[in-house]
Amino acid sequence: MDIILLGPPGAGKGTQAARLETSRGMVQLSTGDMLRAAVKAGSPVGLQAKAVMDAGELVSDAIVSALIGERLDQLGDSGAIFDGYPRTAAQADALDLLLEHRGRSLTHVIELVVDEDALVERIVGRFTCGNCGAGYHDRFKPPVVAEVCDVCGASAFKRRPDDNEDTVRTRMIEYRAKTAPILPLYEARGLVSRVDGMAEMDVVSAAIEAILAR
Ligand code: ADP
Ligand code: ADP
Ligand code: ZN
Repeated sequence: MDIILLGPPGAGKGTQAARLETSRGMVQLSTGDMLRAAVKAGSPVGLQAKAVMDAGELVSDAIVSALIGERLDQLGDSGAIFDGYPRTAAQADALDLLLEHRGRSLTHVIELVVDEDALVERIVGRFTCGNCGAGYHDRFKPPVVAEVCDVCGASAFKRRPDDNEDTVRTRMIEYRAKTAPILPLYEARGLVSRVDGMAEMDVVSAAIEAILAR
């Protein structure tokens, strides 16, 4: 099973991908995470991507599709959860080829439908554990014990430099202009299911599990 989680920044893609890794042993392939790792490592890709990411614009199709191709080669039999990829029609075409060359194909495209006004609050309140990567939110998912990660016990949280109100607006515009238009292509192939991304996290997870189980 290879699936895409599609939705604007803050829709809950990363949150739900992490849950599917636990519940189904699938593997999350997040181009945002891969790019942030490249920036941190100071690799050529990272050096090229940093300013684009800080501005909330899209990194080139060739770079992100190459990153996905490398990861797919390491995947073996595990199902993939594409999170934040594809984001353009060119990336959607590239993904079809990458999968086909490896004898794989998309089984589901799950759109997380969210109210745009809520996304700024989601993004601005987002933080993660710097040790294990667990995701949190100031209001919607604070750690059980303040300042301590529920999962690993570390106290080193971090926030993304691009998670500010200005950049989020640009990211939403990019989503509307370049990413939302790929949905009809998948709809024509009968792959798309919609989930209410404004529901509580557990309710969203249950809805996704129900789609994957049928
Ligand atoms: P994305 O990967 O789509 O950008 P995230 O999964 O990182 O989104 O979620 C953005 C923020 O919103 C995180 O801080 C997360 O804890 C929170 N969040 C995710 N899903 C929900 C939800 N259903 N209700 C409230 N907050 C949520
Ligand atoms: P979010 O979780 O808010 O949806 P991501 O972590 O997926 O954001 O992406 C962060 C940034 O990384 C994007 O604003 C963009 O600059 C870059 N990026 C990530 N994935 C892609 C992609 N598939 N194509 C182009 N740029 C990407
Ligand atoms: Zn942790």
